[in-house]
Amino acid sequence: MVSGEDADQLSEVGLEERILAGLDPEQREVATTLRGPVCVLAGAGTGKTRAITHRIAYGIATGVYTPQKVLALTFTARAANEMRNRLRGLGAGGVQTRTFHAAALRQLQYFWPQAVGGPLPGLVEHKARLITEAAQNMRLSTDRAAVRDLAAEIEWAKVSMLTPDTYPSRAARRDMPLGYEVRTVQRLYQSYEELKTDRHLIDFEDVLLLTVAVLEEDERVAATVREQYRHFVVDEYQDVSPLQQRLLDAWLGGRDDVCVVGDASQTIYSFTGASSRHLLEFPRRHPEARVVKLVRDYRSTPQVVETANRLLAARRPGPGSTPGSWATPLHLVAQRPDGPRPSWNEYPDDEAEAAGTAARIRDLIDDGVPASEIAVLFRTNGQSQAFETALAEAGIGFQLRGTERFFNRPEVKQAVVQLRTAARAAEASDEPTRLVRDILSSLGYSDRAPRSTGAVRERWESLAALVSLADRMAEDAAARGEQFLLPDLAAELERRTAQQDAPVMNGVTLASLHSAKGLEWDAVFLAGLSEGLVPIGFAETADEIDEERRLLYVGITRAREHLVLSWTLSRTPGGRPTRKPSRFLDGLRETEPPRPRGPRGRGARAHA
Ligand code: ATP
Ligand code: MG
Repeated sequence: MVSGEDADQLSEVGLEERILAGLDPEQREVATTLRGPVCVLAGAGTGKTRAITHRIAYGIATGVYTPQKVLALTFTARAANEMRNRLRGLGAGGVQTRTFHAAALRQLQYFWPQAVGGPLPGLVEHKARLITEAAQNMRLSTDRAAVRDLAAEIEWAKVSMLTPDTYPSRAARRDMPLGYEVRTVQRLYQSYEELKTDRHLIDFEDVLLLTVAVLEEDERVAATVREQYRHFVVDEYQDVSPLQQRLLDAWLGGRDDVCVVGDASQTIYSFTGASSRHLLEFPRRHPEARVVKLVRDYRSTPQVVETANRLLAARRPGPGSTPGSWATPLHLVAQRPDGPRPSWNEYPDDEAEAAGTAARIRDLIDDGVPASEIAVLFRTNGQSQAFETALAEAGIGFQLRGTERFFNRPEVKQAVVQLRTAARAAEASDEPTRLVRDILSSLGYSDRAPRSTGAVRERWESLAALVSLADRMAEDAAARGEQFLLPDLAAELERRTAQQDAPVMNGVTLASLHSAKGLEWDAVFLAGLSEGLVPIGFAETADEIDEERRLLYVGITRAREHLVLSWTLSRTPGGRPTRKPSRFLDGLRETEPPRPRGPRGRGARAHA
């Protein structure tokens, strides 16, 4: 007979094997190198995130890691959520998966009273108001664009760890927003900082700066934090800023249990001060590091991979590009079977593009592609509205906000309270999924998505996610032959709230290219691929244009199977057709075999 303990160990052994089974030899090397510095340099879709999630799971399954002592870091809340879901699937749910910002904020909140005293200052959500005020005090005339550029410049200075005093030394070589004098921007930066201090506020960058300061100056706090976190994993490391690197160093405190993974070709945040330098120099900073390269692309069809490879192969250094930033790009080798050719679509205007996109999405959904496996990606947030309207009119559900701070949304807070109250009163005979719908109806839920956009829609989205969570829990319970009750849902919501573990959202994703990093969908629509948007109008230097190319590369490589590229000739219906397709598309389409042209379908000129 096998004792309980033996049985546990047997299943543990099975688990370890299962974790490694889904990896190729290089990925396996990453997953089994549990200590010391590890660096993975690899292209999109090659399994970097997979390798590190399996590494964490393997470390836990073998008892080398304690889940609570692992800190997994990434750059967007969406990516953090994705990583958390993958870890949970591997039985490593207890690991902290956060953005640098979220991890720092949590520590700061915890240590502030002890290290500094008093409550943590309020957070500035948007710099615009304070910057406008600072500019007014200086009698500087600004408009919205100027304020945005000034905010970006201040952010760059802060993540580059420059104070108003040290800023001019580095700024001399930079293009100043709107041709302001360096001295003017310096004074504005100074004045912005003073306003913030006067009002007892801190901004996004301060959260990181202050965490660094506390860790570097308060040995007791540093010791506690370093005792808490032993193993560090950083995904998307190509986009680390000097400030984030400094924070990582402060967390490590000279230890070297750190695994970084990234793809220099996907650096898309250099405008904010991020730099792939840290990734590329990691092996030099850590000569004992295990360096692993992955080239097999498991995500996308050969058709998608080919498009991505061609886009990168067409990179050319321009006058003034940063030396060394033109390393030969990785060539991805597709592993999946053939899929449909990417489709190229020209539309007369944005409205037609949105309607055409919604129609194609409808076709995909009718063909069985789940809405949650479809994304429309665009360069600027302002492009979203047209797609929201078109999808709402076509009766297709969509999600806008991702899952960021899901449990902080007012409607979700209300829903959680009401569900908890109802759970206490619920009778075992009640039908829980019906009950959930009834309760959430009073907050704005309906079985059909509202045909509107904006706040009503966003509220519905959140509530719909809670309804599907309940449905899924009920299905899972039924599969186990158990009964699902409302208190189970209440308990699950409590756990998820504590871990900021947002439920999966249904519906088509509408997102900016920047926020799509690290994610993947069966079908990806890249919209608005015209000059002025991709590359964006304000990208001027060779480096800036190259970053726009990388951004498109990130977009293309999000697609598993269907890739639809589109652009418009004019912004508004009836407008003059002055727009030109993005220059990045030229090289991509050239090598396509000739095919019939001419109008086809809903106002689109389809080229595939
Ligand atoms: P990105 O650079 O876009 O972040 P990535 O390198 O992190 O990409 P992953 O997201 O980890 O790539 O993997 C891409 C897809 O390929 C995922 O769906 C993953 O599950 C799958 N995949 C990765 N490695 C393998 C493998 N060895 N066998 C099967 N599928 C794999
Ligand atoms: Mg990844």
